[in-house]
Amino acid sequence: MKNILFVASECVPFIKTGGLADVVGTLPKIFDKNEYDCRVIIPNYRCIPDKYRDNFKYVHHFYMDMGERFNSVHVGIMEYELDGIKFYFVDNLFYFGGDKPYADTRYDIEKFIYFSKAVMAILPVINFRPDIIHCHDWQAGLVPVYLHTLYRDNPFYQGVKTIFTIHNLRFQGIWDIKTIRSLSGLPEWVFTPDKLEYKKDANMLKGGLVYADYITTVSDTYAGEIQTEYFGEGLNGLLSARNQSLCGIVNGIDYEAYNPETDTNITKQYGTKNCKKSKAANKKALQQEIGLPVDESKFVVSIISRLTDQKGLDLVRYALDRICDEFTQFVVLGTGDPQYENLFREYAWRMPGRLSANILFNEGFAHRVYAGSDAVLVPSQFEPCGLTQLIALRYGTVPIVRETGGLKDTVQPYNEFDGTGIGFSFANYNGDELLNTINYAKHIYFDCRKEWDQMVLRGMKTDYSWANSAKKYQDLYCRVLGW
Ligand code: ADP
Repeated sequence: MKNILFVASECVPFIKTGGLADVVGTLPKIFDKNEYDCRVIIPNYRCIPDKYRDNFKYVHHFYMDMGERFNSVHVGIMEYELDGIKFYFVDNLFYFGGDKPYADTRYDIEKFIYFSKAVMAILPVINFRPDIIHCHDWQAGLVPVYLHTLYRDNPFYQGVKTIFTIHNLRFQGIWDIKTIRSLSGLPEWVFTPDKLEYKKDANMLKGGLVYADYITTVSDTYAGEIQTEYFGEGLNGLLSARNQSLCGIVNGIDYEAYNPETDTNITKQYGTKNCKKSKAANKKALQQEIGLPVDESKFVVSIISRLTDQKGLDLVRYALDRICDEFTQFVVLGTGDPQYENLFREYAWRMPGRLSANILFNEGFAHRVYAGSDAVLVPSQFEPCGLTQLIALRYGTVPIVRETGGLKDTVQPYNEFDGTGIGFSFANYNGDELLNTINYAKHIYFDCRKEWDQMVLRGMKTDYSWANSAKKYQDLYCRVLGW
């Protein structure tokens, strides 16, 4: 039996702002329970829905020193079991009492220093000694650092290995050395350029990358990209140096949660057999729900995304007038940077009946948008893996993507000559290429409908469940443990 602990800042179904939550909440369920005792630890945010929080079981609490600034900080431990997996929640209302998981950067830094240290301190209390601590993103970056410093000589942690998974290299947890040092209690010698120091500041993600036994990221292409200057976010040198301990394992999606045959969020359930008719019904229901003209002949293209520059929205801005022609309806579901929220609000006002801007986060509604759309647009500047295109494929919705990171690895482009491919893609970060690709997709949709419908079915039949990738993680765990 191998003991694995996932450490992360979000996890479905409890709390989600992006794809990280899907991965952390789904992957542990896939491992063979006879071989793996995989548990998950996240913060006990006040904004986790009460239907879960009310059922969390109190396990224990204690007080922990945290750097020079505070001693005796409260650490509560709550537990909840779901689908045979034990989830732990670090409880501290001062840090996790807000109405959303992340807020001001300085405050987040302190929050996740606290979280990382608390995770280390909790393990003997719950009597769970992981063989591997699997850390996700910068919020868990200090866990491997603590393991190799403050907890180095503690017998309980001897032989514990760490894997660090990069879901997005852009977010790193950077603040000045003095503050991070005094909050974390880490020794002075880790704040050097070969360890946590980064351009005179301290970088929590870098700490994880330096100290982890192995690094993974969420697609093969992104694993290569982050070793280059353009995608490396200032850490490409370090990542190239760790090249022998770095690989990409592409994400899957939860085939139970995202299953159009059983999904109760959508109007009409469907599989590959009754897809065409049912998708038309879902399209009409969606149009009605969001106040667009109910007309199944329109090409409905959607964006379901955090609204940030990473997601290629500057290209969309450039082409939007021309995308929204009289045959097309454009649906946006997302929140984020006000400049993009307002861009879509403005277009909804300028182009009534053609563009619907839904500036909100709603999981159930997202399912209806996936089911009711003909195509989903993911023109990202960079995309470590991307789940949107995988969910779209499952719902018979054709992804139109830029060839970067996981988008490149998962969306084989349509080839009209041999009738292969499951989506459309373009190579360069360029608005005209985006527009041309959308226009080409429309041409296939309107003029070669049979080919389009076959492409939809090929997409639905492509297996992007977690089975393959979970196997790769298991192989990696064995390799890291030398078993
Ligand atoms: P990222 O992690 O960079 O945000 P991913 O493509 O990996 O991007 O994951 C995004 C996830 O969040 C998908 O499951 C997508 O459906 C979901 N999502 C994004 N925005 C919204 C929203 N406004 N409402 C509901 N779900 C959303």
